[in-house]
Amino acid sequence: MLSKFFVAALLAAVSISLYGAVVNKPKTAPQVHQHKTTSVAHVQTKAQGNKKMTEANKPPVSAEKSQDEWKKNLTPEQYRVMREKGTEAPFTGKYWDTKVKGVYKCAACGNVLFESKTKFEAGCGWPSFYSPADAKGVKYHTDTSNGMTRTEVTCAKCGAHLGHVFDDGPEPTGKRYCINSVSLELVPDK
Ligand SMILES: [Zn+2]
Repeated sequence: MLSKFFVAALLAAVSISLYGAVVNKPKTAPQVHQHKTTSVAHVQTKAQGNKKMTEANKPPVSAEKSQDEWKKNLTPEQYRVMREKGTEAPFTGKYWDTKVKGVYKCAACGNVLFESKTKFEAGCGWPSFYSPADAKGVKYHTDTSNGMTRTEVTCAKCGAHLGHVFDDGPEPTGKRYCINSVSLELVPDK
């Protein structure tokens, strides 16, 4: 009777330790796996970090610039127009009457904005285009300042204010992108 109890207890002890071993095994395995996953993830994060750094080092610069940095890199008139959404006086900018062939880039970041082939004489005193060079190169915002509702145009890359777009332009778009010269940098065709 006693020995029977002892065997039962021994069996119970063995099965508990076996159970323990079975339970422990998978516990150990995922731990190793987890460790591997973590190190892989770590490497990936590091690689992504490096990629980001490389992208950040590439010119042109992004909108993450501070006000001071913008002030350093722009003329006072460019800062007033491009960062504070000002407007240059009509017929005073360097490009309102320009017929030179080339591409107009953002004066702050170099993003290609307009092409001379879409420039037309609007007679308004600002360089006018009927289309951006690339639809993704500019962004649009509703501007309700000065008692008007207009559509503001900004550089999609650095957020600089460029001017406004109106619906009284020529074919094929019917749009008139009325842009401040000071926001542009003309790169003539070679
Ligand atoms: Zn820009």
